[in-house]
Amino acid sequence: MRMTQEQLDMLKAQLKGLKERSPFYAKKYDGINVDGIQTQEDFETLPFTEKADLREAYPMGLAAVPRDKIVRIHSSSGTTGTPVVIPYTQKDVDDWAIQFARCFEFAGCTKDDIIQVTPGYGLWTAGIGFQAGIERLGAMCIPMGPGNTEKQLQFMQDFGTTVITATSSFALLLAEEISKRGLKDQICLKKGVIGSERWGEKMRRRISNELGVELYDIYGLTEVYGPGIGINCAADSAMHIWADYVYVEIVDPETGELVPDGEPGEIVLTTLQKEGAPLIRFRTHDLSRIVPGDCPCGSKHPRIDIITGRTDDMVKVRGCNIFPAQIEEVIAFTDGASSEYQVYINNEGGRDHLNLYFESDAPQAQWSQIEENLAAIFKAKIGMTPDPKAVAVGELPRSEKKTRRIFDDRY
Ligand code: ZN
Repeated sequence: MRMTQEQLDMLKAQLKGLKERSPFYAKKYDGINVDGIQTQEDFETLPFTEKADLREAYPMGLAAVPRDKIVRIHSSSGTTGTPVVIPYTQKDVDDWAIQFARCFEFAGCTKDDIIQVTPGYGLWTAGIGFQAGIERLGAMCIPMGPGNTEKQLQFMQDFGTTVITATSSFALLLAEEISKRGLKDQICLKKGVIGSERWGEKMRRRISNELGVELYDIYGLTEVYGPGIGINCAADSAMHIWADYVYVEIVDPETGELVPDGEPGEIVLTTLQKEGAPLIRFRTHDLSRIVPGDCPCGSKHPRIDIITGRTDDMVKVRGCNIFPAQIEEVIAFTDGASSEYQVYINNEGGRDHLNLYFESDAPQAQWSQIEENLAAIFKAKIGMTPDPKAVAVGELPRSEKKTRRIFDDRY
């Protein structure tokens, strides 16, 4: 994708003196003259910034401003090891709210909306980002935070919540509860703004149908502001990424080479205005593609497709590379399989086995036939045969945060 002149100017301004401001980049770009970067081609020679590099900067090594300019920190919830800490200046916090408010506008929300925030508050960049965007938009925020389904549903009815913000797994849990309790007529939800998790088409359809709402996908990650750096519009499912704040590249996850627009690969992000912790060519490990061409909505902000997985979600079983998105596609193609699944991979007798548990809304008498069909579709699409096992809807765990679906017990 061509960088616009505005983006190149912002990038050059950010790189100017970066090594003097940031001890992290002073070390990383040792021997590189970043002030000499004049073109997109120059920029593309810069080495990537990796998440592991950010960990090494703990606690405050990423700061590119003096301590008295930092008004807040956030931290990514690393499952292992040292957390990544991102310092924010007042401008960063304001810019994040501007981007988040724009997300709500793209989703068609106005100051008349009542928006319930169910993602968590705290060190990670979820609840507080949603709230700041809602307040900036001028809508009314109900800062519930996660959990407490009872109270969530009560407030939804009592305050007339029109927009729910949630992870996809929590949205599904709420949708199931609303339909189980027959509350659909008592709630006035119109839209769902769903963030911070990749999700399959079948799950999307279930949430959308059961809640009777339009769904929007929000994109973002703690290292680059947080959720809210992009969202899809009413015209299409691809997500616009705010070109005045973030520059997007897609690279081959194996070689790091840029791929042509439209080809799948790993998202690499560069911040264009960030003060507290600018990031240059940060590898997100999220997989997607640039959607070429203009969006019917008329917005010039470039688009990426729905996230299809993470490079580190990939598992290799009997020589096949398998991504969660492919498993979701198999499930979507299998009649009688609902949206939820879990995979356990183990090695018995020197051979890898992939045990795929999936929920089925069909009568139990049909399950063995459905399992057989699923195995055949899996084999055709992915190239190996799993051991599928149907269970009843509601048997697999739902989570308020991210639902883990693949468990690799081989190592
Ligand atoms: Zn659009």
